[in-house]
Amino acid sequence: ENKDQKFVYDFTEGNKELKDLLGGKGANLAEMTNLGLPVPPGFTITTEACKVYLESGAEPLALRDEVSAHLDALEKTMGKKLGQADSPLLVSVRSGAKFSMPGMMDTVLNIGLSDKSVEGLAQQAGDERFAWDSYRRLIQMFGKTVLGVDGELFEEALEEAKTAKKVTVDTDLDAADLKKLVKQFKKIVKAEAGRDFPQDPREQMDLAICSVFESWNTDRAKLYRRQERIPGDLGTAVNICSMVFGNLGPDSGTGVAFTRDPASGHQGVYGDYLQNAQGEDVVAGIRNTVPLADLESIDKKSYDQLMQIMETLENHYKDLCDIEFTIERGQLWMLQTRVGKRTAGAAFRIATQLVDQGLIDEAEALQRVNGAQLAQLMFPRFDEKAKTELLGRGIAASPGAAVGKAVFDSYTAVKWSRSGEKVILIRRETNPDDLDGMIAAEGILTSRGGKTSHAAVVARGMGKTCVCGAEELEVDTKRRRLTVGGTVIEEGDVVSIDGSTGKVYLGEVPVVPSPVVEYFEGRMHAGADDADELVQAVHRIMAYADRVRRLRVRANADNAEDALRARRFGAQGIGLCRTEHMFLGERREMVEKLILADTDDEREEALKALLPQQKQDFVELFEAMDGLPVTVRLLDPPLHEFLPDITELSVRVALAEARKDHNENDLRLLQAVHRLHEQNPMLGLRGVRLGLVIPGLFTMQVRAIAEAAAQRIEAKGDPRAEIMIPLVGTVQELEIVREEAEQVIAEVQQRTGVELKLALGTMIELPRAALTAGQIAEAAEFFSFGTNDLTQTVWGFSRDDVEASFFTAYLEKGIFGVSPFETIDKDGVGSLVRSAVEAGRATRPDLKLGVCGEHGGDPESVHFFHEVGLDYVSCSPFRIPVARLEAGRAAA
Ligand code: PEP
Ligand code: MG
Repeated sequence: ENKDQKFVYDFTEGNKELKDLLGGKGANLAEMTNLGLPVPPGFTITTEACKVYLESGAEPLALRDEVSAHLDALEKTMGKKLGQADSPLLVSVRSGAKFSMPGMMDTVLNIGLSDKSVEGLAQQAGDERFAWDSYRRLIQMFGKTVLGVDGELFEEALEEAKTAKKVTVDTDLDAADLKKLVKQFKKIVKAEAGRDFPQDPREQMDLAICSVFESWNTDRAKLYRRQERIPGDLGTAVNICSMVFGNLGPDSGTGVAFTRDPASGHQGVYGDYLQNAQGEDVVAGIRNTVPLADLESIDKKSYDQLMQIMETLENHYKDLCDIEFTIERGQLWMLQTRVGKRTAGAAFRIATQLVDQGLIDEAEALQRVNGAQLAQLMFPRFDEKAKTELLGRGIAASPGAAVGKAVFDSYTAVKWSRSGEKVILIRRETNPDDLDGMIAAEGILTSRGGKTSHAAVVARGMGKTCVCGAEELEVDTKRRRLTVGGTVIEEGDVVSIDGSTGKVYLGEVPVVPSPVVEYFEGRMHAGADDADELVQAVHRIMAYADRVRRLRVRANADNAEDALRARRFGAQGIGLCRTEHMFLGERREMVEKLILADTDDEREEALKALLPQQKQDFVELFEAMDGLPVTVRLLDPPLHEFLPDITELSVRVALAEARKDHNENDLRLLQAVHRLHEQNPMLGLRGVRLGLVIPGLFTMQVRAIAEAAAQRIEAKGDPRAEIMIPLVGTVQELEIVREEAEQVIAEVQQRTGVELKLALGTMIELPRAALTAGQIAEAAEFFSFGTNDLTQTVWGFSRDDVEASFFTAYLEKGIFGVSPFETIDKDGVGSLVRSAVEAGRATRPDLKLGVCGEHGGDPESVHFFHEVGLDYVSCSPFRIPVARLEAGRAAA
């Protein structure tokens, strides 16, 4: 600890920029004080003091003296001393971190009351009941938060007192009742805490300060920070504020107010007021509040003053503010203000309203919204007001709200959906075989796998709701049922899944559609009702973002339908077309033939059969993306993924043998499955390695691309195909593929007489590729960072398993705040990306650079990719608006 460090700031010394040091509450109290608003005098102990306390277990040496000096000054200002017997100064001790953590940390009011000063307060206020009520509140709060007494004990005693008197509300207890209650509360403290309730006011204050420091590290505070991604080492400030009382009679009261409606963004009088009450009464809902507008008839002077202050605050903060205030005998006091939380929809509306009011410019408007809010607005939601029965919880893998009948296999999903049923496909985990079922289903629920599991990635790609890794759910696909606790869900029972929260419900939860998607889809335009107002705001903000962003945004899409949607959503091309999706379904048989081929002739025949199909796929894709770049990635996954499951096939073969029913093809298949089996398929025969080992495979794909491009040009189209080689680790691999590809392209050019400009590039998804990017750039016209595999290989984490296995423990231990598969790990993976960008450009200054891993649609990662100078990000169609917005925010 630094000797000259200042740990305590008077409210007159701070300002709103000092949130790191004074916390949000302290910084804003200071700001209001300096604006000349009526804030009860006080001072703030810095977060630095808290950090020292948490690290060393003791307050900084200088703190006590500094607090004494500030307390002296406060006592002079107020003309009374803390806890003074005849006319006590009372203070509140409130927590206040940089980021708001509502209700997570401690606060103690009425510090300074004791057996002696309670009498003084009674006299000073001319209200004995009030004084004893304040005292019992102090013992209760102090007992619970500072001394760790179970709060229930106080509540029970209070309830008993009311029952004994046959009344129901606290205010019906008179001074004599409360005196008795205070005695009882003190007994509870003594019995439970093993010490007397401290009578020395300064001791009360010092203990309360330490307790606030400690409350930074309670389990619930830690949990909240993890969820909100608030760093764990910030610490909290402590605000010592002279008490004002809203419970001094009918001309007193307390309330909360918003300068605009936090749900709609509309300006108006929003808030609640409670007469003759203190702040916690409002929160606890002990008595019913009245709408803030009613204050006008209760206390016109205070109401007018409050309206004036709210206007001042809005104009000063240039944003929606929320406020806590107290009226003490007709005198208005501001206890807190901050830039208020709002719904996602209100954030967009308020940002554009403030632009219209001339309070902020477009660049600032972009900072007032974010991609997470936009994503929230894009998914249909469950009606919040609906009654629900929670079954369990998994990983929120792909947002949205889906309702349907439970089915446990792809076949049933397709069959039922064809007959008009809505279904939820429930599997332990999914694989490419489930694709048809996933397409047919409203949503996908799995009990295994994380955010990059097959189910999650494919669902996100399709914009389909998915909850994965819901481990409490026992999925029994054989018996077609799901068990959780004592509940059994049979095939056909209705379930609802929320891909934004990971929650799984029994039965149908009603859903409301998203007008924002209707807008992006071009199905909704301007109008006057509430939804359209939101759409207008989104429309304007997107225009600001598009105007300033440097990053281009492409889509990960592999069929014309997705490509067209992506275009509607603003995609400027396709950054990743995964061709393996074109090898499934009916074509599987051809792929099997290819894999099983014993001779060159057989292989060539199989490839020949695949060629026209592939070509047609590309023709459609290039047409859908006419005039825009389409990056086609050659086949990537290990071949065994296209073969039947080893266990199922073994059983089939064994059964056939037993029946003496010899099936030559199955036998060959089984041999092939065994031959291709790998312990670590993700590190095995896949990507460019396949292309080098299976003769003719990549050249067939290149031919299909080239012929499709030629056909489109002949049809007066403008195809802009780019050929991308996956999983390259060394430039030599790329050179071989490149040579072969160039030959094929030349052949097609010659035969068709059409000039083709096909760029050839590579993915960077192995550490070695990133480390030798300078060499690789010699053979590549573009790089696309495959950050899924790059994250997998840099960390040595299996992307399909870790999130469901040990990531929870890692997150709990704070090893990372968010999965590196979701948000780019800047220090590790990101630093490889950065250096590969530099090395690549050093070799080839016009090297085109993009990213097509899942991170391409993640808000925080988009900012990183902007910063390292990529040319584009590529993401699933539904994340395109989010990526556009974040790219704009990064550039603004
Ligand atoms: C990647 O690895 O980041 C990538 C985009 O490829 P895939 O997810 O298909 O392995
Ligand atoms: Mg990859």
